[in-house]
Amino acid sequence: MTTMVLSPGLTKSECICSDDHPKPAAPLEEEDAHIIVPEWRLQKVQSPIELNHDDSNEYDHFEPLEFHGHWDQGGKATFNNNGYTATLRFEDRELPLLVGGPLHDDHYVFEQLHFHWSDDDHSGCEHIFEGKAYSMEAHAVHFNRKYGNFKDALDKHDGLAVVAFFIHATDDDEHPCFNKITEGVQRIQKINSSTEVASDCLTWMTEAAECKGYYTYQGSLTTEPYTESVTWILYPKPIHVSREQVAHFREMKSTPCETFNILKNVRPVQTPPPHKKLDIIYARSHRKSE
Ligand SMILES: [Zn+2]
Repeated sequence: MTTMVLSPGLTKSECICSDDHPKPAAPLEEEDAHIIVPEWRLQKVQSPIELNHDDSNEYDHFEPLEFHGHWDQGGKATFNNNGYTATLRFEDRELPLLVGGPLHDDHYVFEQLHFHWSDDDHSGCEHIFEGKAYSMEAHAVHFNRKYGNFKDALDKHDGLAVVAFFIHATDDDEHPCFNKITEGVQRIQKINSSTEVASDCLTWMTEAAECKGYYTYQGSLTTEPYTESVTWILYPKPIHVSREQVAHFREMKSTPCETFNILKNVRPVQTPPPHKKLDIIYARSHRKSE
């Protein structure tokens, strides 16, 4: 099992979350670090939301966010068409773990990864970042290990952690790592069909997760039961794939009669009610590992 501690690996021009961005809020004092996190995690809104860097609060005191085993080889990776999305699960291996960052002292176990898309290349993401919409959004869903399983974690305020990645279709060549995903998608066009894909099929995530920082807020699932149990972690740097790679997702069928394709599975952006404060934190997770 390999461990990847996020660290700076990109130049300013490569990364949207570089030091060039304005710093909207004064940094919090070191002594606040252990007080603010749990309290902040109790404030939840419905997801997805629109995010802007200027509306976020910069926070430097999180521990580094660590991905353990997400892009390892071994065991079985299975893709399934449930009529709504393509879902990837791991079996016969130690499940990947997400720790650190805004997750306090808890360990979050990988449950599944799924995708959102739309009938065109300009509206398939759920979160909107800086007014931009990307072609797709991938959600890596994790449950808090202290609750034992996904079902029991679902309604707890610290039950789930979802890492979101933007995926954008361009006229460029296909993304070779993402091909492990799209080859599988082409084999699950029928509803309720499954296929095995390469166990290291998530390596494309590393490209976005090497970004210097990420956005985090307390929100909800974007599908039923919409429970406000999610710590969201969003990487702003989109992963570029070809238009054809995105188009394969739209070939998946949503009904047994095969008349309808899954053309759109995006929940619209939610506006928090006035009594709910939307706290978006921009985390520079690498700071302590330098
Ligand atoms: Zn999702």
